Amino acid sequence: MAENETNGSGYHRYHIRAERAGDIEKWPSRFRVEVKRAGLAKLIIGEVFHYGPRNKDVILSRPCMYGVFSGPVGGFAPREQHCVGCLRCTTEFPDFVRVSHNAERRKLGDSYFDFRVVDSVSYEAESGLVPVKGAGYRGKFGGEGWDGMWTDMSEIVRPTRDGIHGREFISTVVDIGARPNFLSFDADGKPNGRTPHVFQIPLPLVLDTLPPSAASEKTWRITAAAAAQLGTLAVIPLGAVLQYNLESPHVVPLVKPSEKDNLHVLAHAPRLIEMDGWDEGLLRAIHDTFPESLVALRIPFTSAKELLKFSKKGIRVFHLLADYHGRDPHGAFVLDLIRAAHKAFVEAGIRQEVTLIGSGGIIHAEHIPKAILCGLDAVALDTPVIAALQGRFHGECRERETSRFSLPRKLTVEWGAQRLVNLAASWRDQLLEIMGAMGLREVRRLRGEMGRAMFMKDLERDAFLGVQGYEPRR
Ligand code: SF4
Repeated sequence: MAENETNGSGYHRYHIRAERAGDIEKWPSRFRVEVKRAGLAKLIIGEVFHYGPRNKDVILSRPCMYGVFSGPVGGFAPREQHCVGCLRCTTEFPDFVRVSHNAERRKLGDSYFDFRVVDSVSYEAESGLVPVKGAGYRGKFGGEGWDGMWTDMSEIVRPTRDGIHGREFISTVVDIGARPNFLSFDADGKPNGRTPHVFQIPLPLVLDTLPPSAASEKTWRITAAAAAQLGTLAVIPLGAVLQYNLESPHVVPLVKPSEKDNLHVLAHAPRLIEMDGWDEGLLRAIHDTFPESLVALRIPFTSAKELLKFSKKGIRVFHLLADYHGRDPHGAFVLDLIRAAHKAFVEAGIRQEVTLIGSGGIIHAEHIPKAILCGLDAVALDTPVIAALQGRFHGECRERETSRFSLPRKLTVEWGAQRLVNLAASWRDQLLEIMGAMGLREVRRLRGEMGRAMFMKDLERDAFLGVQGYEPRR
């Protein structure tokens, strides 16, 4: 759970306490370990002569130091779930051990949220730790989508901060709401214009609503409990909030225009209410029922003109959506969509007056700082929540309403909430790591800080334009 540490001076330090929450459903192992029994038997007989028959544990455990051959009958029934793919066994005993990727494991996720991402997210949700690949990174250094953006972490021109190890505090607090560009005061010194209307959450992550196929009383209780433990927000449909009595300062009711008459059933004014699509009547009903609540508009990423139109109608918090693969209906990627939305408000001179929350295609810890660099204030997590809960993807899961997911039958609220808390702990640590390397002390300064971003297509163009064979990326 998250907690505030205080040192007696009134100073609070935000900390997320991760606790191990192992898998509740058996997933296919990453590797298949095939052992020829005759070869193994010969090895074991040799080992018995070498170590003596009493050293049963040693004899049966070899040649794997990760415990794959350490079950009750040793390598005759290899424990594949322990295999890390180091290949020591097959290098030492190529005649009778063979290690290969498990095709079943590769079926987890879909083409965007592929099995590698599932591996990372499940490790993060299980342990709350930062995955360490070790032995050097052997993948590509650039590519499409998020991989075409790099962050500038030059420590030569900026002092490195140390947030992840706790020696220096890096703030991940973000403001949700509206701040006017300037304040005005009357003759008595009292503000007579618009005043800031914001609240803060301790990390730039909120939990988005789940698609119909993953929605249930249990999953709503999980996201509500995790948001409360983290001190952040969970977006939950109004119907579920009322039906399961989930009202809390950490729950954001998501209201459809047809539900405006149910608003008055809420016992308390939510800090934030999300409108599911634009509807002038619904906005009026929210203002009339809960004048003190902030209102967010949940819409797909749209043009600058549309965004400014809604802001003129009084919307100050936008929750912008791409599909689960990070695309809009025209194929534009979420990275470019965020930049365009941010730029629209910067050019209109009102960026400080609005909060931008984004969802869709943001599935790795590194996507959080990148999305904030591009202009978001906070990210609402969607498919990572499902993967953290060991949810299965059925087919290509792209559209929000129609994608099919299934969650483990043994799901419990306690386990699920801890998995999400662990995921947030791991992703926050990775955010701190990146901000530390950039020399930044708070995440609010990261927003739209394009001086810290580099784009592969720009760098390639600068380096290769005019060189025969070079074709600019789109
Ligand atoms: S590949 Fe490595 S971890 Fe896997 S069984 Fe062989 S020795 Fe053990």
